Amino acid sequence: MAKLIGYLVDVKNHWREEDKGLAYNYILAANGLFVEGDNKHITACVKVADATVRGLPPLQHGLALKHGKIPARLFDLAFSVMLADPYHERYVGIIWNGVYQLYVPEQDGSAARVEYATAENVVLELHSHPDMPARFSSIDDRDEQGLKIYGVVGLKFPEVINLRVGVYGYWMPVECSEIFDGRLSGVIDKVEAEVAHENEQ
Ligand SMILES: [Zn+2]
Repeated sequence: MAKLIGYLVDVKNHWREEDKGLAYNYILAANGLFVEGDNKHITACVKVADATVRGLPPLQHGLALKHGKIPARLFDLAFSVMLADPYHERYVGIIWNGVYQLYVPEQDGSAARVEYATAENVVLELHSHPDMPARFSSIDDRDEQGLKIYGVVGLKFPEVINLRVGVYGYWMPVECSEIFDGRLSGVIDKVEAEVAHENEQ
């Protein structure tokens, strides 16, 4: 019988179809516990916890955008929407509608919260932090429980973007270059900067 969540353990990482979940799968591997989700737009595999498990093959975390990378110019437009109202939190989605498109719903934003109507086929959800750093808040964690890419843009100079992929409440940082087809202008990529910093150490 079909089940919502799959729990997969196999010495060869070859899953039986009947063991897979309809929504997502937990996968135990040599290097930890992972969660894997798949929808019309992305496939993502995120590590939930480190662990050493003897006798299993290792697994790699990963993200694939099924329609290819998002045009960087759509970020420019989203960033303009945020900068046009720098004292209120603004939400901008990138949806798939045969092509990637901007989705800017009617919204009611305060300095730290924004309410809006959600859309179908959202691949990337961006919101601004007018007065806070580009760090995901506990409210963001509560709101960002889907299988999507999420980003927060800190508007205090210098402007910073911080991206992550979420698989139903588990997240993994991603660099802008994994999501967009070109360099983003006007923002610092927080994840890229942190990776570069770690490599310097
Ligand atoms: Zn936020």
